[in-house]
This record gives sequence, structure tokens and C-alpha cells, in this order.
Amino acid sequence: MTSNNSPVATKKAKKPAPAQNKPATATLPNVPNVPNAPKAPNTNKAVPFTALNLSEGVQKAITGMGFETPSPIQADAIPALLDGGDVIGQAQTGTGKTAAFAIPVIERVDAANRRIQAIVLCPTRELAIQVTDEFRKLGKFTPGLVSMAVYGGQPITKQIHFLRRQPQIIVGTPGRVLDLIRRGTLKLGHVKMAVLDEADEMLNMGFRPDIETILSHTPAQNRQTILFSATMPRAILELTAKFQRNAKHIKVKQHDQPVAQVDQRYLKVQRRDKSDTLFRLLNEHKFQRSLVFCNTKRQVDYMVTLMRGKGYAVDGLHGGKTQSQRDRIMQGYRRGKTQILIATDVAARGLDVNDIEAVFNYDLPKEA
Ligand code: AMP
Repeated sequence: MTSNNSPVATKKAKKPAPAQNKPATATLPNVPNVPNAPKAPNTNKAVPFTALNLSEGVQKAITGMGFETPSPIQADAIPALLDGGDVIGQAQTGTGKTAAFAIPVIERVDAANRRIQAIVLCPTRELAIQVTDEFRKLGKFTPGLVSMAVYGGQPITKQIHFLRRQPQIIVGTPGRVLDLIRRGTLKLGHVKMAVLDEADEMLNMGFRPDIETILSHTPAQNRQTILFSATMPRAILELTAKFQRNAKHIKVKQHDQPVAQVDQRYLKVQRRDKSDTLFRLLNEHKFQRSLVFCNTKRQVDYMVTLMRGKGYAVDGLHGGKTQSQRDRIMQGYRRGKTQILIATDVAARGLDVNDIEAVFNYDLPKEA
């Protein structure tokens, strides 16, 4: 028995840590608890959204989205960003980090001005789409506000066409943003807010030169620069030193993080028993929606074929898929047609899908 062969099953809560801090209750029987797994203490700061001085439109959108209390990262970051300061937010997906920057961006953008005033850079197309979606929901009652996603894999001509709608907020992957800048279609001379979302991941993917070039096309003097990152390696600190001024470092405390709401379990099994163990857990619990992480594209494809052969409603997501394939796969998963998504961690990082009941680390993640 070797721990390298252990699939780790985790039960995932769907919302960030804010008001309720409710630990996931369903459990996987006969599975030992992770030693020293963090408990979920109640650290609710209980500042209502109404105390944040938001515009009527944004407040209405927040209420409509069912958000009651700001999550810890929101409670700290929103006032700092509304004040116009630079912020380094150390928070993972699931903490409510998107709204933590999207709310102040919407508040500070002038919807009556048809120039691009905010640019958000994201590592993946999926995340760019998701972030744009959050902007659209939060900006639903802010007349004149237009946000738009630009990313590779979709015809650039289509995006150039949409740019004619004169969005104030652009959310994009660095490669495509740069491409549009070089074509002269994306003009960032009036940007007053720049957000680097999942900055550590963008650096890992080699986007640093692109990010620096993009930022150099925005006015350094008047720019509010916001960086969100789950980790703070040296390269991130260099980036903040170069592009931010007196940035306020806001860190979501360990016990505020969504991991605290996740019931984590592991199983020690022989490599040859891994797939049968996974099938047993899936069959026992009949999860409506689950996610299985594998380390390589090949392993993802292999598992998809194996599981389809056994009748599971399964699909696979990895970097080798085209954009339209990825969109179709994610749509099937969100709508419940696909119950099990097998994915490489890079392809699925930052994906926000509600009601995922279980996440299996079929292969141990390369980065913990
Ligand atoms: P994120 O960490 O930005 O990926 O957010 C994770 C999920 O939490 C998204 O579905 C958000 O819409 C949702 N969310 C964000 N802020 C709140 C809040 N204050 N209360 C409840 N849900 C929230």
C-alpha cells in the first residue's frame, strides 16, 4: 500500500465561507478522516452588504443573487478597493474573490463613458467566461454597463465585432488581450482599474511577459492595480513591487478558506484497485455531480473511455480539447447531462460549478 496510489475523495461545499459557515454534512462511510483536517469554526464577521455603501443597482443585484453577508475577503477588499487603493488579495476560488473585485470595479466604472475603464486578466478561457458572467449578474441593474470576455479559441473577428458595443470592462486571457491590443482594436489608454486574477496561475503558465506588456499599455499614474492569487511566490511579489503602489495585503485566514468547509477523506489502495474503488464510491453515493482529477490528458481520456464503457454519464476536460469542445463539455456538466467530469487540474482550475457533491483526486495533485 502506498499513499501515492491513493484517490482522495473530498466533499465540496458550494458557496464561499461567509455567513453560514456550514460544514458539509454528508460523509463517505468506511473512509478514515484525514488526520488533523481543519475544522470549520464560525468566524463570521457579519458586516452586511448594506454597510458597504454600494449603489442601489449593485445592492439590488447582490440581493437577487442571494448573497446575504460578504465573505471575509469581500468584507476586507471591497472597502479598500472602493477607496481607490491597490490590493493584493490572497484567496482561492470559492472564497467569493470574484465579487470582491467585481463589485468595486462596477462601482468605480463610469457606465456613461463608453471607453474601456477596467481590464481583468485571467489564466483560462473558462475562468474569463465565469468572471464575465459574475460581472453581468452584478451589473444587471447598472444601466449602460457592458462587460465582455475575450479569449483564444474563439474567432477573433467575432470578438472584434463585439468590441464595437464599447464595453467598459474587459475580461480576458493575456494572449488574446495582447493580440487585440496589437491589432489596434483594444485600447487601454483610459483604464483606471487592472485586475490580475489567479496571478500565480498566470505566471505558472508563462504569461508574465504578456501581463507586463498589457499593463504597460495602461496609464500607470491613474491605475488602481488589483492582484488576486492563491499563493504568494517571489515572482508575484516582484510583480506587485513593479506595478502596485502601497498595496494592502488582504489574506483570507486559513480557517476562513473553503477548505474548512470541505469534508476531506482519503483511501489507501493499491494502484490496480484505484478504478474499482472509485466506481464503488460513485455507485454507493450516486452523486448527481462529481469531479475526478487526473494528472495527465492521457489518463483523462483513458478514464472517460473506461467509464463510458461501464455506462457512466462521463466527459473529459483537458488542455487538448478545442474551445468549442470545452464549452460543450462544460454546458453538459452544468446542465447535469454529464454527471462525472474527469479533468486535469489545470483545465479545471477555478471552475465554478454549483452543487458539486464530491471531488476525487484520482491522482495526487502535483501541487498541494
Ligand atoms: P469565487 O470564489 O469568486 O469563485 O465564488 C464562489 C461562488 O460563491 C460563486 O458562485 C459566487 O457567486 C458565490 N458568492 C460570492 N460571494 C458570495 C456571498 N457573499 N454569499 C454567497 N455566495 C457568494
